[in-house]
Amino acid sequence: LDMEWLCGLGPMAARDLFPCLWRGKYFSSGNEPAENNSVTPMLRHLIYKIKSTGPITVAEYMKEVLTNPAKGYYMKHDMLGEEGDFITSPEISQMFGELLGIWFISEWIAAGKNAAFQLVELGPGKGTLLEDILRVFSQLGSLLKNCDISLHLVEVSQKLSEIQALTLTEEKVPLERNAESPVYMKGVTKSGIPVSWYRDLQDVPKEYSFYLAHEFFDVLPVHKFQKTPHGWREVLVDIDPQVSDKLRFVLAPCATPAETFIQDDETRDHVEVCPEAGVVIQELSQRISLTGGAALIADYGHDGTKTDTFRGFRGHRLHDVLTAPGTADLTADVDFSYLRRMSQGKVASLGPIEQQTFLRNMGIDVRLKILLDKTDEPSLRQQLLQGYNMLMNPMKMGERFNFLALVPHQRLHGRSHQTNARQSKPSPSPVAGFGELAWQ
Ligand code: SAH
Repeated sequence: LDMEWLCGLGPMAARDLFPCLWRGKYFSSGNEPAENNSVTPMLRHLIYKIKSTGPITVAEYMKEVLTNPAKGYYMKHDMLGEEGDFITSPEISQMFGELLGIWFISEWIAAGKNAAFQLVELGPGKGTLLEDILRVFSQLGSLLKNCDISLHLVEVSQKLSEIQALTLTEEKVPLERNAESPVYMKGVTKSGIPVSWYRDLQDVPKEYSFYLAHEFFDVLPVHKFQKTPHGWREVLVDIDPQVSDKLRFVLAPCATPAETFIQDDETRDHVEVCPEAGVVIQELSQRISLTGGAALIADYGHDGTKTDTFRGFRGHRLHDVLTAPGTADLTADVDFSYLRRMSQGKVASLGPIEQQTFLRNMGIDVRLKILLDKTDEPSLRQQLLQGYNMLMNPMKMGERFNFLALVPHQRLHGRSHQTNARQSKPSPSPVAGFGELAWQ
């Protein structure tokens, strides 16, 4: 990493700071007092479904509540920010996206400066993270000159894809829409980069790519299992027989198919497994091993040690997961040990390492100082320091959030995917953010 890069980035970008909750803070026992018993359209839909086919798995519950095309939580509203239900790192401070932008440039250089790359983001929210990354790409344009960049957004939410388009694209160039096509929207960013939207990673062209997933894996559906004297039993969602229009958790009376996901040597008595996350990691690993590139995954999570982390958020507060479904976010901690296992050795993995370590290795302290030096305005300085504190403080997001990178095996053994002069380089440069501070 070159210190000059941080100096080359611009001043403060407009950003609001809210005194509110981020999703990684609490664990839900599922026992919080129900603050709202309203019968939502989603609850009616689920009750109908359970009455006709029996109790459903927690994974099916989560999938329906979050991404059902007609009524899903993510499909129709904007949940990020002060008016919404939670806030994420890119929304808190511009420094977050800037340092990630530098990470991608650094990996692109270390891997041999491919003539083109796709930047693929899974679950881009409001597009803020990409906006900050693209600003870095423009400001450090001399490094990337002659590189052909395209953006590929994997997003299921119609509402959020519209917000992403507003954030990223040039108003004067109209968007192309085709709801029937796997590429449901296309446009051009303010800096002239082509951008396409997909619902599924499978549809993104299998070209040399850098992949980014920030707070994406935690919304994918989890199965939950409880150890009982009779073996593992899956936790299901059923209708409460005592109270009308209310859901409750029950244990499956016998073994269910998803049980095969539990490791034979599992020692916990309650586990959450996210098969969809496994499918995404397998796809990423396959792509990276074939074409090169890298994936950067950041989320709150653990390394196969935690038990019950399924929880809900609404209006920046914890919310009972079974109450008023469709009006609150549902999430579970990411099991990084599972993600690494699902890469099946096709790629090398680095991390997970804590957010505070990753951002410090990427130079957040230097970047903060540069931004502070550029502004005398007390409220802006305050905002920068508060943002830094939220991202870095171990009691806030510094420890709970982790970074995991997937890179081709060649990347760590000094050989580049491309046939060029760099192939003979004796030792590869360390992967930025994951090793000792490597500023020049
Ligand atoms: N990365 C953003 C937003 C995180 S919220 C940030 O950090 O601010 C989760 C995002 O994933 C939202 O954009 C949501 O619409 C999207 N999403 C949820 N389930 C998805 C799925 N199955 N496929 C693609 N995107 C999904």
